[in-house]
Amino acid sequence: MSAADLAGALADGRISSVEATQAHLERIAAVDGEVHAYLHVSDHALDVAADIDRRRAAGDDLGPLAGVPLAIKDVLVTTDMPTTSGSKILEGFRSPYDATVVARSRAAGLVPLGKTNMAEFAMGSSTEHSAYGPTRNPWDLDRVPGGSGGGSAAAVAAFEAPFALGSDTGGSIRQPAHVTGTVGLKPTYGGVSRHGAIALASSLDQVGPVSRTVLDSALLHDVIAGHDPHDATSLADAWPSFADAARDGARGDVLRGLRIGVVSELPDSGVQPGVASSFHAALSAMVAQGAELVDISAPHFEYGVAAYYLILPAEASSNLAKFDSVRFGLRVDVPGGTVEDVMATTRDAGFGDEVKRRIILGTYALSAGYYDAYYGSAQKVRTLIQQDFAAAFARVDVIATPSAPTTAFRLGEQLEDPLQMYLNDVTTIPANLAGVPGISVPSGLAGEDGLPVGIQVLAPAREDARLYRVGAALEALLVDDWGGPLLDRAPRRGEDR
Ligand code: GLN
Repeated sequence: MSAADLAGALADGRISSVEATQAHLERIAAVDGEVHAYLHVSDHALDVAADIDRRRAAGDDLGPLAGVPLAIKDVLVTTDMPTTSGSKILEGFRSPYDATVVARSRAAGLVPLGKTNMAEFAMGSSTEHSAYGPTRNPWDLDRVPGGSGGGSAAAVAAFEAPFALGSDTGGSIRQPAHVTGTVGLKPTYGGVSRHGAIALASSLDQVGPVSRTVLDSALLHDVIAGHDPHDATSLADAWPSFADAARDGARGDVLRGLRIGVVSELPDSGVQPGVASSFHAALSAMVAQGAELVDISAPHFEYGVAAYYLILPAEASSNLAKFDSVRFGLRVDVPGGTVEDVMATTRDAGFGDEVKRRIILGTYALSAGYYDAYYGSAQKVRTLIQQDFAAAFARVDVIATPSAPTTAFRLGEQLEDPLQMYLNDVTTIPANLAGVPGISVPSGLAGEDGLPVGIQVLAPAREDARLYRVGAALEALLVDDWGGPLLDRAPRRGEDR
């Protein structure tokens, strides 16, 4: 069941939270040995669920999602479960506080099922860089589930959770959604608190929802959105109900008269033919509903990946400096060694290759003499990309792109080629650089290999509700094109194995 359907059944008393939670724990026990979506499964989820059931029976005023299970990406710190961010350096770490989004989820009565696997410190597009082994794509276990949030996306696609929390610095919610046939939304920068989300690149990171339906993402987003005094970049905005926006989109004719920008500089070359044709079919379907396609120019998007791989490593090298063998997690003692020896040995043992690669890139880009040439130039490109968005949004309501260039690739296929891996985020990165929101909605199955494909919709900053409206309309329109309802299809292949 979707989270919305579960919430309805819980409210009507047709099921209990203990039953809903038990069903998901059984599903995890049945399939997670192969999928490996979870790093940790909560040993007290049933107690939390029983407490919700008791409070409901006592007539407490519970929120609309009370009793619904939730998966949590391991980048988010939790007091009652370990947090590793996919890294050995945080093995054994237990947070003294909950991330704000986790605290809000608990307050809403959601039942945390466990922590999901991720690329180490959220670096990568395949989840193969997790220090705890890769997650597999439930549609085809030889394929990656995307990344960095492959665990959250795979858990949701494999029905191991109705929805999940993710984080998106360059595409880590949207690209996994694309390759697993799920929905994922990166909110406007500042729209959701980053407090307790282990920082990758602070000026790019956003926490957001992952689910099988647009409405479910909206429901979860309603729980986690809003100002947080613990996050200095948190917006003070009062957000509209995203769930209302999604319901509105599924009903109304929001596509009529919608001006959809298509970026002329994003050519079909480099995009797998099945992904391109699914994208164009989705556009045609929207035009048939009265939407208008507008060619827009965003000449600086093509420099997005290059700028991102200077800004991100620069910020990451600084953020990761705190893993110093003293304050958190792992410490490798060096008998007779200095504190620097212990630090260096611990960091060498605790960080994986991709993390080391980015720390080296970042410290190099920030070093005296190179700062203006690399970091300074990248920040200028970032401003130009923001200006591209501003010019486009003066003419269109939303921008549409394929969510990623290819369907799920095979495990190992891109592991030895970091640059190839980086290019998976070519269409998602501009939104992080500009701080605008983006959603990935399933648009069908690609012709070549029958694997899921998503369409990305981008809106101006603060217009997240527009994405739920358009996303729900798109979902209603495209589900038929799958040859069956989305909810019936996702787990089949994983189960057949
Ligand atoms: N794949 C991108 C990277 O490796 C995205 C990461 C993210 O969004 N956390 O940086």
